Amino acid sequence: MPGFEIFGDEERREVQDVLDSGVLMRYGFDGARNGHWKAMTLEKELAERLGARHAHVCSSGTAAVATAMAACGVGAGDEVIVAPFTFVADIEMILLAGAVPVFADIDETLCLNPEAVAGAITDRTKAVLVVHMCGSMARIERLAALCEERGITLIEDAAQALGAHYQGKPLGTFGKAGCFSFDYVKTITCGEGGAIVTDDEDIYEVIQAYTDHGHDHVGSDRGAEGHPHVGTNYRISELNAAVGVAQLRKLDRVLAIQRANKTFIKDGLSGLNRVSFRDLPDRDGDSATFLSFFMPTEDEARQTVKDLATAGVDGCFYWYDNNWHYHRAWDHLKQMKSPAALAPDRLGYGENWAERDLSASDAIMGRTISMLIKLSWDEAALADRLEKMRSVLA
Ligand SMILES: *Cc1c(COP(=O)(O)O)cnc(C)c1O
Repeated sequence: MPGFEIFGDEERREVQDVLDSGVLMRYGFDGARNGHWKAMTLEKELAERLGARHAHVCSSGTAAVATAMAACGVGAGDEVIVAPFTFVADIEMILLAGAVPVFADIDETLCLNPEAVAGAITDRTKAVLVVHMCGSMARIERLAALCEERGITLIEDAAQALGAHYQGKPLGTFGKAGCFSFDYVKTITCGEGGAIVTDDEDIYEVIQAYTDHGHDHVGSDRGAEGHPHVGTNYRISELNAAVGVAQLRKLDRVLAIQRANKTFIKDGLSGLNRVSFRDLPDRDGDSATFLSFFMPTEDEARQTVKDLATAGVDGCFYWYDNNWHYHRAWDHLKQMKSPAALAPDRLGYGENWAERDLSASDAIMGRTISMLIKLSWDEAALADRLEKMRSVLA
């Protein structure tokens, strides 16, 4: 998955352009910048790559999620339906928006189960934040149809799924807005960075202002620009954006290598009767950052993760016990351990506000192992890895 494996002269050249001009900011200083607009270039190329009308880059994937929610009108007192298997940033941003995260179960796609989402809708539900985990997709068409039918906004967190698609349509372009991350361990990276894509003109206008204190970006005197609404500073710097420009141009190569490496391992493991694979609504659309598979029981999964590590198969994750990606370790959020009051507290949701029956998710995640697919594996490394995995999993 990580773009950091393939840094090269392309990234260095883009960064050098910025250093040579000395304009590290994405806005203004038109005369001094020698025609280099790295953030704008990244936006243009990302929008083209994803077939979205607009892309806006910002300081992180977390900022992208916060911005997408604000632009979609998610705010004080709203409920947002989200999966218990995600990255903790989504829950944080919902809470910091003054909204209330409502967990709904996942299914064997490892993403939100549309039926569970339908069951979690209340008259306070404003949005569904669907996260496409580990490089592949949710049942996005059904979720989009459900949201449409119920008048709820669909927002996609595709931070882990850049380049993945469902029936040819890129993930991140099904909802009102889609979010991406370019942090250091993502498919492509610029150190720290993120992006929001949308086809909606009005939402785009809010997004680009919101990430820059509400600046309307009209005219050529920054100090005199208007502020149609509140915002904050989620700007990306030109240095980060420059790295992103070079990395995005490598995306297709990254995807091709990942897909080939994953296919080799997955095909090699087929026929082992203790192992079954994550449900992929569109196998061809998988970005192949991870191979996720199920063991028959939780005990076997736990033991297998240990055995894989002992056998020298690195990069295997057991999310069920993970501090950052699964709800079981999120007591700090459930108990609202926060330096300042959070919405569920003030809105009278009560102490057990986050408690829901997530046994269906637990039953899936307890059996799930995900292995990171690396770009650097050569034929020998792949063969060696497969042989070790087969001996552990047989
Ligand atoms: C990485 C990630 C984020 C946050 O992105 P940052 O750039 O690290 O802030 C959000 N959601 C998911 C699913 C992620 O994997």
